[in-house]
Amino acid sequence: MAEFDVDLFVIGGGSGGVRAARIAAGYGARVMIAEEYRMGGTCVIRGCVPKKLFVMGSHVRQEIEDAAGFGWTIPEVSFDWPTLVANKDKEIARLEGAYTTNVEKAGAKLVKTRAVLEDAHTVRLGTGETVTAKYILIATGGAPNHGAEIPGIEHVISSNEAFHLPELPRRVVIQGGGYIALEFAGIFAGYGSDVTVVYRGDNILRGFDEDVRKHTRAELEKRGITILTGCTITKVDRHGKDFTTHLTSGSSIASDRVMFAIGRHPNVANLGLEKAGVAINPKNGGIEVDGWSKTSVDNIYAIGDVTHRVNLTPVAIREGHAFADTVFGKRPVQVDYAMIPTAVFAQPEIGTVGLTEHEARAQFPNVDIYKTDFRPIKATMSGRDTRVLMKLVVDGATDRVLGCHVVGDCAAELVQAVAIAVRMKATKADFDATVALHPTAAEELVTMRTPTARHVRQAAE
Ligand code: FAD
Ligand code: NDP
Repeated sequence: MAEFDVDLFVIGGGSGGVRAARIAAGYGARVMIAEEYRMGGTCVIRGCVPKKLFVMGSHVRQEIEDAAGFGWTIPEVSFDWPTLVANKDKEIARLEGAYTTNVEKAGAKLVKTRAVLEDAHTVRLGTGETVTAKYILIATGGAPNHGAEIPGIEHVISSNEAFHLPELPRRVVIQGGGYIALEFAGIFAGYGSDVTVVYRGDNILRGFDEDVRKHTRAELEKRGITILTGCTITKVDRHGKDFTTHLTSGSSIASDRVMFAIGRHPNVANLGLEKAGVAINPKNGGIEVDGWSKTSVDNIYAIGDVTHRVNLTPVAIREGHAFADTVFGKRPVQVDYAMIPTAVFAQPEIGTVGLTEHEARAQFPNVDIYKTDFRPIKATMSGRDTRVLMKLVVDGATDRVLGCHVVGDCAAELVQAVAIAVRMKATKADFDATVALHPTAAEELVTMRTPTARHVRQAAE
């Protein structure tokens, strides 16, 4: 008789949990995985994938506007939001099915129910049954923050609801200046909504390179998005289908929808963590883990957004894979968190990897900056008022490229490839020695010869 019902119980069928379950089962482990909502998790069901589909569709308006300069006369076009949502839902349902099939094909047993910890080796299912496991992996992800309990908070939607609106709002107010706020600002504006972004700080995208922040803001404003900084929302009044949003600045905005995109919190509530002795990281509210994703309890691990480390899908997947390799594959692997590329699918897109200028100057005494800001070739014909930003941050002592930041069309695609070179410690000389691919925007990255700024830290600094 086996000592436990299963070797591994995974709580959460999202990006990280599914990868871990599949890989562990591939090593011969007896695996059970519980999902309380829909297989695929945030990324597939109400995150990266549906967001990207929405972004792609919203680009069409710009393409149509740009077409005239290339000789096209396009008859009046129309857009149908319910068709977009229905087709997106169809694709998401297909992916959800593929996630289910792949988990089962790998040999893991899927249970479609909530699961919580009963003790360090026991999980209780929503059905009331208990399952004992040698190892437990918590991969429960995160959920949108609601912020302070302001009057009218019940009228506010998050990204979860934004994917299922019955109609395209004519006017939208979005609070937040990070990934989700700017991605949805671009989505709604692209389909024709009048968008106002309300951000509490002095400029959007805190944590990104200063030039990226300034450039992106200017470009969003050129596309007609209103960005109000230095204020927050204090109250939302509803009058039938209309809303009035009140700000700390004293002004108010009329809209058809109000959305908050003010960060996400790890799903740790009512999971039975205390019964099993699993500790929370007091710094971020996520489950505390070490470099192996092991929690304070020896046989319980946690990965992905529930640990609130780097909340990105490829990171959750890596953590899940590394856990399975380490615990079941006898191949100890730790995730390397250096040089993780990331993109904000705003319009224009932002792609970035490595250090910002500010971070580099704090860590290195000599920092060279190579920056260019140019009109993309397409705009010369379309007449669109837009510029692309490309920036390399270089260690002046070793010539190593420390960071690459791009704002413009296909920035994410471009930075994914550049990230390989940056991670391999490519030098500026390596970039320069690479022959340009012409005519592209990306060729600027290998043709910037003279630093636009050179920072040398003085001895006393
Ligand atoms: P999740 O994918 O959230 O999966 C957790 C799963 O656990 C969920 O399915 C949940 O239902 C289930 N669950 C929770 N509690 C229980 C329980 N007790 N019992 C059973 N099941 C439970 N990242 C990118 O890299 N690129 C992007 O473009 C991107 N876009 C995003 C857009 C939006 C709008 C959002 C919200 C996020 C986006 N992200 C993006 C982030 C990405 O979605 C997450 O980092 C990723 O999904 C985290 O994976 P995970 O496995 O940790 O958790
Ligand atoms: P972000 O952390 O990106 O942005 C949150 C924004 O809300 C910030 O501008 C923040 O301001 C502001 N904010 C936080 N708290 C408050 C508050 N109480 N009142 C007013 N404003 C507030 O979170 P998101 O919700 O946009 O996204 C969550 C995470 O999901 C991201 O961090 C990312 O990890 C992931 N994601 C990744 C995507 C991608 O890879 N393309 C896309 C979408 C999400 P301040 O800066 O001042 O703190």
